[in-house]
Amino acid sequence: MMPLRIDQAPRLTRFLRAMDALVERHCAEAELLNGCEALLKELVAVDDWLPDTHAAPHPQFYQQYALHVDPLNRYSVVSFVWGPGQRTPVHDHGVWGVIGMLRGAERSAGFSLQDGRLIATGSEDILKPGDTSRVSPAIGDIHQVSNVYADRVSIGVHVYGTDIGKQSRHVYDLVAGTAKPFVSGYAAPVLEADA
Ligand code: FE
Repeated sequence: MMPLRIDQAPRLTRFLRAMDALVERHCAEAELLNGCEALLKELVAVDDWLPDTHAAPHPQFYQQYALHVDPLNRYSVVSFVWGPGQRTPVHDHGVWGVIGMLRGAERSAGFSLQDGRLIATGSEDILKPGDTSRVSPAIGDIHQVSNVYADRVSIGVHVYGTDIGKQSRHVYDLVAGTAKPFVSGYAAPVLEADA
């Protein structure tokens, strides 16, 4: 994987140093979520830093590019790139996460498991640039996310409390309500010459 040219993204570098300081405090999840959300809000307030290598859509699949994976796996930061009309399956994370919208808009529909059955909670969030939201097993961890737009790319920046590309989690079959294990991995950054 080609490394992100982090020297060209000082906003991201500042964010990562502040995240390092936050996770080094070993605080409880609620405090981590508060701290991370405040930092992420600042990061996605300005859309001038994400390298094209980590912003390229795929014609068929939404893309998850690793911007940073903490060497101790205490957190990871990804850019989540939606092509027009793309959506995830219903899925969980198994760990805390904070979502910040950088470009375009995404829609998140909430689900929960009740007596082993998958139920739509009826909650629907639409995130616009600068907006943030949270997931975690403690506060609601199952959702389906889609690009609000059928004609343009949307990009979110997500932070998770582990190396999310290696995290063992689940996708859910909406009809049968069954869970299937999955590991997302990361997309390979697009070479600058191709971007
Ligand atoms: Fe998600």
